Amino acid sequence: SSTVNRIVSNIKERAHHVLSRSLDSHITLAVTGLSGAGKSAFITSLLHQLIHYRDASLPFFKPTSEQRLLGVRRVPQQRLDWIRYPYETAVAGLSEQVPQWPAPTRGVSTVSLELLYRPAKQPLASLTDRAKLRVDIIDYPGEWLLDLPLLALDYNEWCQLNSHLMTGYAELPEFVLWRETIASIDLNAPVDELLLADLAKQYADLLHTLRGAGAYLLQPGRFLLPGEYEGTPLLQFFPYILLDSLQDKYKKNSWGYCLTKRFEAYKSQVVEKFYKEYFSKFDRQIVLVDPLTAMAAGHAQFQDLKQALLQVLGSFKYGQRSLLRRLFNPRIDKVVLAASKADHVLPAQQDQLSQLVRQMVITEDSPWGFADVQVETCAFAAIKASTVGNHEYQGVARTMLKATSLDERKPFLFYPGELPTSLPSSQIFEQHQFSFVPFAPPMVGKEGNIIPHIAMDRVLQFLLGDKLQ
Ligand code: GDP
Repeated sequence: SSTVNRIVSNIKERAHHVLSRSLDSHITLAVTGLSGAGKSAFITSLLHQLIHYRDASLPFFKPTSEQRLLGVRRVPQQRLDWIRYPYETAVAGLSEQVPQWPAPTRGVSTVSLELLYRPAKQPLASLTDRAKLRVDIIDYPGEWLLDLPLLALDYNEWCQLNSHLMTGYAELPEFVLWRETIASIDLNAPVDELLLADLAKQYADLLHTLRGAGAYLLQPGRFLLPGEYEGTPLLQFFPYILLDSLQDKYKKNSWGYCLTKRFEAYKSQVVEKFYKEYFSKFDRQIVLVDPLTAMAAGHAQFQDLKQALLQVLGSFKYGQRSLLRRLFNPRIDKVVLAASKADHVLPAQQDQLSQLVRQMVITEDSPWGFADVQVETCAFAAIKASTVGNHEYQGVARTMLKATSLDERKPFLFYPGELPTSLPSSQIFEQHQFSFVPFAPPMVGKEGNIIPHIAMDRVLQFLLGDKLQ
């Protein structure tokens, strides 16, 4: 019987271990997207929805609709070396007399929540009526994921790639000027570090100009959003796109030598470091996409967004022999690809918006194949800035949107039309001008006034539902 006792006590111990682990679980939820996709708005709304939830406020989020969410509170973050997401400032901005959008994401920031819930799934449900899930949210620029392919390239290959990426801008005055400036450099001459820093800055400025003109696929990602490396020599290099001058080896301390060295340092000390120190800690990922702004910018920009998006998603394809697998063991099990700003289309079109994003990432040479990762698509608005109503338009009563323009703060009515049912071709862009007028945010934050949204509850269910069963 002592054996039986031992077995029983063993089982009890193990049950206790399993129980305490499930009673106090933890998830790291990463939020990304290219700049302007809506990351700050999303995090602000997510926190606001959860902190101020009521049982009926998030119908598709099962823990609230099943009345099993018992409480949500902010808890101190664990990583002390990461910036804290300025949630209070964001909410204060939305509560001003002239409400302001939250400030956009510039680097990594984090915020932590603790959700207390009643488990519904066995065996936990019969063992306890209270469990905790800690959610560490991490926000970072999607541009940084555009750098992953760099790890597989040497400097010369990278110059070739950039020369190819930039063919479309051959006529742009800023590009012509930069190209002329670097043409005056002899790669074997001794490097002038000050001039190198200056040329790198000119290159970064060029990337910003291209971004402003609607380009998305730009490299290196940190030149657009440097984060903690702002002003350091790690970001002082550029692709020498005059390919005929490239060599395999350069004299020590020459321009060619220095550019190659800095590129290698960027790969190991910036790109690899990001994947090892941050990316490898993520459990779940939401990737935000704003296809509407890109469509309004034109066919080339829409295509560029599509390419950039495929490149971003490349970080979540880690089959057995992938680059990421060789670097570390990635553990993301679910990616939500979410089209933001769904308040810019009619309610009946929201599904189509989600379809559009889905179609952007399914291509012939890139079918929907993610070995270990589950991918979902949806459309949502973190901060709904329009209302829907019936109004007369060109003599007919129509369902239309009403919003306030961001620049003039004047209310306006408009009919957004229908989204294309498949990826729009260049002909569609020739026949039809898609438009996108930014909205002013609604005023929120007054008592009992939760940030209005579209489908944030669905997004929450995708991201956290299974962890709160
Ligand atoms: P980030 O660069 O990814 O952090 O993007 P932001 O969160 O700063 O969003 C960029 C801009 O997109 C905001 O300033 C708003 O103008 C707009 N935006 C973001 N989310 C929404 C939304 O839910 N609805 C609408 N109408 N506009 C949004």
